[in-house]
Amino acid sequence: MSRILIVEDSPDLADALERNLRLDGYEVEVARRAAQAMPLIASMKPDLVILDLGLPDRDGYSVLKELRDRGNSCPVLILSARNLEADKLQGFRLGADDYVTKPFSVMELLARISALLRRAAPVATVATPAAPAPKAISDEDLHERFGLTARQTAVARLLAEGCSNAEIAQRLSVSYFTARNHTEQVLAKLGVPSRAAVGAVLFGQV
Ligand code: CA
Repeated sequence: MSRILIVEDSPDLADALERNLRLDGYEVEVARRAAQAMPLIASMKPDLVILDLGLPDRDGYSVLKELRDRGNSCPVLILSARNLEADKLQGFRLGADDYVTKPFSVMELLARISALLRRAAPVATVATPAAPAPKAISDEDLHERFGLTARQTAVARLLAEGCSNAEIAQRLSVSYFTARNHTEQVLAKLGVPSRAAVGAVLFGQV
C-alpha cells in the first residue's frame, strides 16, 4: 500500500484530500506546516508528497529544495493556487514531478497520483514466490460463496493485486466513481473491512 504525505495548511482541503486518498486505499499523513513536513518525511518515508506552496511558516518550494538537497527522489506533486508559468517552472526546476493548480478535479488528481506512483515503482516488481503459491479461489467459488458478479470478480482480483480505485477505473475502462462503487460492493460481499484483506480471501487464507 502506497504512503502519501499531504503538506497543506487549509484544513478543509487537507481533510477532503485525506478522505479521498484513504478511500482509494492509500496510507495518508498530513503536515499543516513546512516545519512538520521534513520530520514526517523522515518517519513515514512517503511514496509521494502532495505539496502546497503557500504554507504559513515557509514556502513550499523550500520544502521541495530541502527534500531534493537531502537526496530524496520521491515523487512530488505541487498543488497550488499559483497559476503563473514562472511558479510552475520554479517548481519543476526544484525537482517537482507534477503541478496541479487549485481549484482542481479530485478525479484528475487521483489519476495523476496513480500515474506518478506507477512511474516511480521499481521495474522488477514481479514477486518471486518463496513459498508454494497459495491456492487461489476460482471465479465460480467467488460467485457461489460470496455472490460476486463477473465484474465484481474482476474488481476483486485487481484489489488483490493492490490496484487503487483510479487504476481499477483505468484497467476496466469505467469511471473512477464506478470503480469506487464496485470496490465498496466487493468489500461488503466478501465481508472484509479493508482493501488490503481482499487478497487473503482470494487466496483462501481466511
Ligand atoms: Ca495554503
